[in-house]
Amino acid sequence: HAKKQGKSSFKLYSSRLSDKIHCRQKLETLLRLAVKNEELHLVFQPQINEDGVFAIEALLRWEDPELGVISADEFIPIAEESLLIEEITHWVINQSLQMIARLRLICPSVYVAVNISAKNCLYPEKLKHCILTGLNDANLPGSALELEVTENVFLQNVHNTNKLFKDLGHYGIRFAIDDFGTGYSSLTYLLNLPLNTLKIDRSFIQDIHCNKIKLGVVKGILVIAKSLSMNCLAEGVEIEAQKQCLEELGCNRFQGYYFSKPLREKDFLLYLKSDLLQKS
Ligand code: C2E
Ligand code: MG
Ligand code: MG
Ligand code: MG
Repeated sequence: HAKKQGKSSFKLYSSRLSDKIHCRQKLETLLRLAVKNEELHLVFQPQINEDGVFAIEALLRWEDPELGVISADEFIPIAEESLLIEEITHWVINQSLQMIARLRLICPSVYVAVNISAKNCLYPEKLKHCILTGLNDANLPGSALELEVTENVFLQNVHNTNKLFKDLGHYGIRFAIDDFGTGYSSLTYLLNLPLNTLKIDRSFIQDIHCNKIKLGVVKGILVIAKSLSMNCLAEGVEIEAQKQCLEELGCNRFQGYYFSKPLREKDFLLYLKSDLLQKS
């Protein structure tokens, strides 16, 4: 009996594993098709300071007719494992730049933050070419773009990444560290790289209003950012109490559902117009 059980549980495990592989391969095939047929789209979430919207983050969405919405956390890693991430990033950069060029007609100094995968930094020349051509095509200065990378980008290829950031920095392009506090950070990298923004990960913000330890950690991050002359932005602000806590600590750049969910361009414009109206 035991033997039988052992065998069947092995079988269960192996079939689950093959299911997983099958599912991954299916997703990769579908993603490749979606890219080819331009079935991905972008949504935009505002970044807010005392004056209102100062930037927007572009976030990628994939809705498959059969599978429904597949979250970015699920399909970006698949894209990263194949070469698809290159094509996707180039598409995202171009679409984001075209969008921000339109938005700047209403809101002149706003810029767009685009997520870049560590994989993209392995091909710095390609990325640089894509960005510079995109800026040129949209007739935009480098200051219209911020690139968001996670700390893990520095695990591979610090030298190339460093050079890439410095190169692009000369054009006025900004850099942000995304999900700060959750990856493999090194204060040395933060010291040596031309970085503009630290985005404090949502997990620290979530219970900042009721957890003294998290509050202390965020306070510390703000001190570090200040010492490095970097701006600090709090991610995932969902409620008033969190915003108030952050303001008391001196953090006044926010992003999160409390202000707005990520929106399609058309809805984003409506949001922005009502934001501008409120101010006037
Ligand atoms: P991220 O760059 O840290 O983006 C923030 C994520 O938090 C987004 O999830 C956003 O929708 C979500 N979010 C924003 N405000 C709140 C809030 O108040 N509460 C909660 N619970 N969530 C909030 P999303 O769009 O599902 O993206 C997940 C991750 O996928 C991103 O994390 C980013 O790492 C990656 N990603 C998204 N778009 C792209 C892209 O175009 N290229 C690359 N390479 N990665 C992308
Ligand atoms: Mg991001
Ligand atoms: Mg983040
Ligand atoms: Mg993230």
